[in-house]
Amino acid sequence: MGVQEILLAEPRGFCAGVDRAIDIVEAAIAKFGRPIYVRHEIVHNTYVVNDLKTKGAIFIEELSDVPPGATLVFSAHGVSKAVQAEAEARGFNIFDATCPLVTKVHVEVAKLHKEGYEFIMIGHKGHPEVEGTMGQLPDGIHLVEDVQDVLKVQPKQTELLAVVTQTTLSVDDAEEILLAVKQRFPKVREPKQQDICYATQNRQDAVKLMAPEVDVLVVVGSPTSSNSNRLRELGSRMGADSYMIDSADELQNEWFVGKHRVGLTAGASAPEVLVQDVILRLRALGATSIRKLDGVTETIKFPLPKGLKLNDGH
Ligand code: SF4
Repeated sequence: MGVQEILLAEPRGFCAGVDRAIDIVEAAIAKFGRPIYVRHEIVHNTYVVNDLKTKGAIFIEELSDVPPGATLVFSAHGVSKAVQAEAEARGFNIFDATCPLVTKVHVEVAKLHKEGYEFIMIGHKGHPEVEGTMGQLPDGIHLVEDVQDVLKVQPKQTELLAVVTQTTLSVDDAEEILLAVKQRFPKVREPKQQDICYATQNRQDAVKLMAPEVDVLVVVGSPTSSNSNRLRELGSRMGADSYMIDSADELQNEWFVGKHRVGLTAGASAPEVLVQDVILRLRALGATSIRKLDGVTETIKFPLPKGLKLNDGH
């Protein structure tokens, strides 16, 4: 017998930062007309990006591809000081969709830098959030991706050293790396509140709760989505056959042969409509019951920037 029951993780899918970033692009199109330009994928999700393209967004990586006078939105991942300065120098009408929780890290870096601190950043090389945070300073931020990197890193001094992290890491991996940092640099300053965001933490907690109960875990998320990848890894580590899919079309029937219970979750940038598509497919494979697991209810919301709020004048 095949799939019988679907367990739905709670919470799953969109976080407050993603909601706000998408709202900013839609509000900018409504206010200034199409096209508007977005630097990098607004959030790492294929469906969201394609949907916004049809509504009038053009996604670019290089600011030289944006015509003079155009409206430009920075993605939720944040940008370096250099990108910000170049965009201002080119005179674009700029709206910043950087998640406020990423901005918080940028503000902390700027503040401690003034006090003379150097930084160790725990994160994934090449991720736009890491590029944006490291680009808050001309130098003095050293990236470590794993414990091996911690052993090799060479700050100029160790008296004033602080740790910052990417917001979407594996909570467990980050803890292990942080421990290694503290062993090597006992005086290191930790963030008051950890930089891994509430949404990342809650979605990983939900998978931890769910994984022991399921035979297969399906994570809806795009390959570029850091937090979605971490959910799939976590499911595997906990012993569930775990797959990440961009859409229901990618589901393969053989994953479910002889499997009764399927856990379903979605990364912070994956819309609920894709989860519902997966449920339809699993129902077609025989699932007759759906059970929502208990989890944290998220109520956090971030306001739109000035100039895009509903009642703003022109
Ligand atoms: Fe912000 Fe966290 Fe969502 Fe990233 S995953 S946009 S840091 S709330």
